[in-house]
Amino acid sequence: MQKGNIGVTTNDIFPIIKKFLYSDHEIFLREIVSNAVDATQKLKTLASVGEYKGEIGDLKVEVKADSKAGTLTISDRGIGMTQEEIDKYINRIAFSGAEDFLEKYKNDANAIIGHFGLGFYSSFMVSKKVEIITKSFKEGSKAVKWSCDGSPEYTFEDVEKADRGTDIVLYIDDENKDFLEEHKINELLTKYCKFLPVPITFGKKKDWKDGKEVETDQDNVINNTQPAWTRKPVDLKPEDYKSFYHELYPYSEDPLFYIHLNVDYPFNLTGILYFPKLKNNFEIQKNKIQLYCNQVYVTDSVEGIVPEFLTLLHGVIDSPDIPLNVSRSYLQSDSNVKKISNHITKKVADRLEEIFKTQRSELESKWDDLKIFIEYGMLSDDKFSERAEKFVLLKNADDKYFTIDEYEKLISENQKDKDGKVVYLYATNTEDQHQYIQAAKDKGYDVLVMDGTLDIHFISKLEQKMEGKARFTRVDADVIDKLIQKGNEKMVTLTTDQQNALTSIFSSKLPNDSKMNFIVTYENLDANSQPVYITQNEFMRRMKEMSATGGGMGFYGNMPDSYNLVVNTAHPLIEKILKDEEAQCGEKVNPLTSSVAEMEKKRTDLKGDKKESDLAEAIKDEVKDLDNKINDAKNQQKEILAGYAKDSKEVSQLVDLALLSNNLLKGEALSNFIKRSMSML
Ligand code: ADP
Repeated sequence: MQKGNIGVTTNDIFPIIKKFLYSDHEIFLREIVSNAVDATQKLKTLASVGEYKGEIGDLKVEVKADSKAGTLTISDRGIGMTQEEIDKYINRIAFSGAEDFLEKYKNDANAIIGHFGLGFYSSFMVSKKVEIITKSFKEGSKAVKWSCDGSPEYTFEDVEKADRGTDIVLYIDDENKDFLEEHKINELLTKYCKFLPVPITFGKKKDWKDGKEVETDQDNVINNTQPAWTRKPVDLKPEDYKSFYHELYPYSEDPLFYIHLNVDYPFNLTGILYFPKLKNNFEIQKNKIQLYCNQVYVTDSVEGIVPEFLTLLHGVIDSPDIPLNVSRSYLQSDSNVKKISNHITKKVADRLEEIFKTQRSELESKWDDLKIFIEYGMLSDDKFSERAEKFVLLKNADDKYFTIDEYEKLISENQKDKDGKVVYLYATNTEDQHQYIQAAKDKGYDVLVMDGTLDIHFISKLEQKMEGKARFTRVDADVIDKLIQKGNEKMVTLTTDQQNALTSIFSSKLPNDSKMNFIVTYENLDANSQPVYITQNEFMRRMKEMSATGGGMGFYGNMPDSYNLVVNTAHPLIEKILKDEEAQCGEKVNPLTSSVAEMEKKRTDLKGDKKESDLAEAIKDEVKDLDNKINDAKNQQKEILAGYAKDSKEVSQLVDLALLSNNLLKGEALSNFIKRSMSML
């Protein structure tokens, strides 16, 4: 037996390994198994170039757990090592400046292991002793056993070993006994080794027999050695991509589309990305993109490597050129990584454009599900947006799909307003806004459906792009005749007094709710149009919606919803209400109106064109007194008119119907409406 000390400058690396690598203990298995795979691949390469002429045989890597002995053994039939090679590759490890580095990256085992080439030594995170029993493929080699118990001291011994290759025997320490449990090992192998290029076996396959689980004599192979992304796109059919998706994410719905990445210059990158079908927004982050390095699983946090908006996708990326052994923050500033990220964006855009060109109907059929990804991309990535403008689709209320250009052509003549702006009409809910959509269609307009989570932001983006030549307006933002103003609208002929009276009447019947704000306005519409409409100002509504979905407009988010109650002065019912009101209330209201007018005149005369603060004290008091009296008179009028409104079934019915068609009539108000309607039958 020979003894020696592991060549490290720091006195004892093992406490450091154990102390600092607490976060990711489980990756030891990935490191040991991938070393075994590397050794196997090397043997294959040597054989293929004729440097190894012996038999190759079964090249599987075997993982065995022995709970009695407390050992986990990983065996390969790769190139093995001679004693000199162990000396060179295992005993001497460069370890300068270790403490600083370790302190900095103590939570990032990947970085530490990569930085120091410590793959093999990660086994000491979970072992009290490790043995290497190995025999080189070189002719005449003797088998040797290296053993180390976690101190810098190791021993060498001659052993008998029939076969070429290496057994790594880990004596699992007491705190890590769970790594000897079958289900745990299975879980780790599945996580890290699922797509390694050499078969990895762990025990025997199990079968159900007479209601019991029994072992078969077939090896339990963990991995698929030729996952789809490593194969050539020409050799794969759409079904292959689909079944690979289910291999990655067993219980998921079929994906919408896939993108096979296959780059070898200026960096190596392969992979398959999928646009998933999301059931709802909460599911977005569930199946993450997995990052591999030569088929070894590394991580599922790909932020920084994949552009932000594409982290919503699912699938696999494999690249030996992504510097995995550095910290996340470094990754994000690395220029190669930026290139990779840009390249992925470009590839995704290429593929979508290809689908658009060659499979448009398929794209349309999946568009409603795909839309969120494209819109998110366009909103967050200018380069992608430029590309996507060609294939992003707009859907109208008849379920027809158009590109931006196609749609512009469709509406640019008919939906131009008097200032030459093209007005894009849209609905956010085809059920709730049905009557508005219908009114727009009856007028020969087209209506888009914008019911997606990001649509409100996307609309703003499109408006910006159209540079003031167009604007978007929801179908219920105004009465139909004014949605697209052509300059031939009729003027309202009611006097201000008449309008004031009607405003008092209708206001008294509107909901008293701090979350809603109503303004009564007047339009001289067609006599056949409805007598009363509710519309919602486009600007205010949109600002509120944007703040609700995180557009950073908190100010608007706290404002009440603001609605217009539009009164159609040409409608016979409105004319009737006005007449009735004058007949019933005129005697009381008209004198008040005259006295208000008188007082207002007096007030103006008193003040002249002076500012409030420049008035003499006595005048100030008089003005104040007048103000109070004017107010009183107006309030009296309001009360009288509200009293009229209270008894007028027509007024109540009109307001309630308008509220009802906007989903705003709720609770007691709704019950009252139903009762009143019954009584009127
Ligand atoms: P790395 O794999 O990053 O080089 P490791 O510490 O994991 O670092 O391994 C050091 C070296 O030991 C490897 O490069 C390889 O030469 C040798 N080695 C480790 N495991 C095996 C094995 N199972 N068979 C043959 N050689 C091995």
